[in-house]
Amino acid sequence: MIHYKTAEQIELMRAAAQVVSRTLGLVAERIGPGVTSLELDKMAEEYIRDQGAVPAFLGFGGFPNTLCMSVNEQVVHGIPCNTPFKEGDIVSVDCGAILNDYYGDHAYTFAIGDIAPEVKKLLRVTKESLYLGIHEARVGRRLGDIGAAIQEHAEREGYGIVRELVGHGLGTSMHEDPQVPNYGKRGRGKKIQEGLVIAIEPMVNLGTKDVLQLEDGWTIVTADRMPSAHFEHDVAVVNGQPDILSTFDYVEDALEKRGIDAMRMSLQSVVAE
Ligand code: MG
Ligand code: MG
Repeated sequence: MIHYKTAEQIELMRAAAQVVSRTLGLVAERIGPGVTSLELDKMAEEYIRDQGAVPAFLGFGGFPNTLCMSVNEQVVHGIPCNTPFKEGDIVSVDCGAILNDYYGDHAYTFAIGDIAPEVKKLLRVTKESLYLGIHEARVGRRLGDIGAAIQEHAEREGYGIVRELVGHGLGTSMHEDPQVPNYGKRGRGKKIQEGLVIAIEPMVNLGTKDVLQLEDGWTIVTADRMPSAHFEHDVAVVNGQPDILSTFDYVEDALEKRGIDAMRMSLQSVVAE
């Protein structure tokens, strides 16, 4: 059953999403070669608690940390560790926070130093596909339109769209109905209605769409061990239109301040192309 949200509930969810957005902004100030995922995880946990919020992933199904940090061929659900990032890596940082009982859950994939041009393109196209999916989150469309928009954009480049993991409804639980696949057919699936709040999160692989789970019981990796990118926003349907509750502004500002190309884009800029 889908729990559609009132305007008031959506504002509470925006506040939770923004805690996550600012946490990712803090990660963007620090992440780079030589930094470890555990350092960033500790910093994120402290920051989330300082905001009066609670890390949503910590203890969720037994997950041991605040951030999911997935490097290179790791798709999602990577466990923070003491291995320093190195030049050329890409790192998906997924973060969740609970504020006033509502969940925020979003993710950004960072480049560590200079990365290979084909990997940079994977990041750009995945981020674009997220916004193209968000554009379909409006009254008059169906869930299949979201997945189709993401799938078409990624597959045009020959990339693999992960099937086993999908976006989801969001509210006072982290995973509510409906499921929001990153693939689909236009005009299929549930009708999108006012008050729907979903996390849209394309996971796009440079090679095969197939994935495996490592023996740690968490980490999802690509079957061919080629890199994978992941971007996620929390989106509400308000006045019939997509309203992005989370933001990458903190991340993109922090990266640009450091002279790093943030591949800044927005719903408007992507849709206009
Ligand atoms: Mg999610
Ligand atoms: Mg997430």
